[in-house]
Amino acid sequence: MSKVFVLDTNKRPLNPVHAGRARLLLKQGKAAIHRRYPFSIILKRAVEQPDLHPLRVKVDPGSQTTGLAVVNDASGEVVWAAELTHRGKQVKRALESRRVIRRSRRQRKTRYRKPRFDNRGKKKGTLPPSLESRISNVVTWVRRLLRLCEVSAISQELVKFDLQQLEQPDISGVQYQLGTLFGYEVREYVLLKGQHRCAYCDASSVPLELDHVHPRAKHGSNRVGNLVAACTPCNQRKSNQDVTEFLKDDPARLARILAHMKAPLKDVAAVNATRWALNARLKALGLPVECGSGGLTKYNRMRRGLPKTHWLDAACIGRSTPERLNVKGVMPLQIMATGHGKRQMCNVDRFGFPCSKPKGAKRVQGFQTGDLVRAVVTSGTKAGIYVGKVSVRTRGIFNIATAHGRVTDIHHRFCTLIGRSDGYTYQQRREAALPPSA
Ligand SMILES: [Zn+2]
Repeated sequence: MSKVFVLDTNKRPLNPVHAGRARLLLKQGKAAIHRRYPFSIILKRAVEQPDLHPLRVKVDPGSQTTGLAVVNDASGEVVWAAELTHRGKQVKRALESRRVIRRSRRQRKTRYRKPRFDNRGKKKGTLPPSLESRISNVVTWVRRLLRLCEVSAISQELVKFDLQQLEQPDISGVQYQLGTLFGYEVREYVLLKGQHRCAYCDASSVPLELDHVHPRAKHGSNRVGNLVAACTPCNQRKSNQDVTEFLKDDPARLARILAHMKAPLKDVAAVNATRWALNARLKALGLPVECGSGGLTKYNRMRRGLPKTHWLDAACIGRSTPERLNVKGVMPLQIMATGHGKRQMCNVDRFGFPCSKPKGAKRVQGFQTGDLVRAVVTSGTKAGIYVGKVSVRTRGIFNIATAHGRVTDIHHRFCTLIGRSDGYTYQQRREAALPPSA
């Protein structure tokens, strides 16, 4: 069961508690709700010397979705988990549309004007806004978790495979087989090097196997350089033929594969700028940051018999992963980044001309679009209780997006604020996230 974060009255984090206990504390009036998402309560008393169990925040950064998990290393319990969906594509699209509009505006009613491309410098290390947005999302959430529970360390998946392991000369023979940690590292390496495509037919999104280019039966070596990714049919067709024999009708591909095999290990390390930038930001938070490889994550996950989800991948990162990971009943919070609105002052038509009135004030009667409200309507056709995200209108008559659909035209005097808009929307899965067998 995902636990509930607890703060004392001075906002010092305490140990997270079971949801039932939190409910009791709230019912007895000993605590109040601090935040809805992630659900956290604040006690009405100070706790002098709390006996805290340090937790570990684990991050599996992805381009679209990042897995987050808070794990108690001592007990092996996953205390809380979430899946954070980024808005990299939206950021990119917004910038592209801005560029188009600006360009057309500059070209309207102008005679020839010199192009200006080189007059805007960027600081070294600046990432594109879409990537920057992803990193900021993750750092925001790690910081939030640091405020809600006692965290002693952070784990992050930094690389797909561990290059140092692959370069160890003394590893050979049986250790190449899948099922060992080394096997997983090799697999990640070969897949990345082959861009997740079959080397013989370029098929992608099919299950890929490792194939010995010079077959084992003909004394081909077990070195990583002798392996390529191949789909099952190709692998079976090739069987124990030598690659020169198998590809005698396709000399171009043969040459490509042979050249590919000679390419040194380091070229493939495919340094992922985003992940390293995230790593630097996490280190700046002042906690020890453990780095894991994708191969290790997968190895940990398979050994514990867990299905592939973002939050379970996060829980399995690094060597610190507890031998027994207790994930029973954990319901990951689904977090979607939405941003904080646009700076655009009014809507434009497809030619870039303004086609609406200037935007009104962001805040109306103390509410702003995206705030979480509870509306109690006592009379009329709309009578009822509605909880959800509000969208404000200048007249003070709002729409509310509830879990059961949108309710329109609710007067602001019926609404009470229960959470400020914070740039994210949330969904709490109701059913357990794991199949019963896991
Ligand atoms: Zn193939």
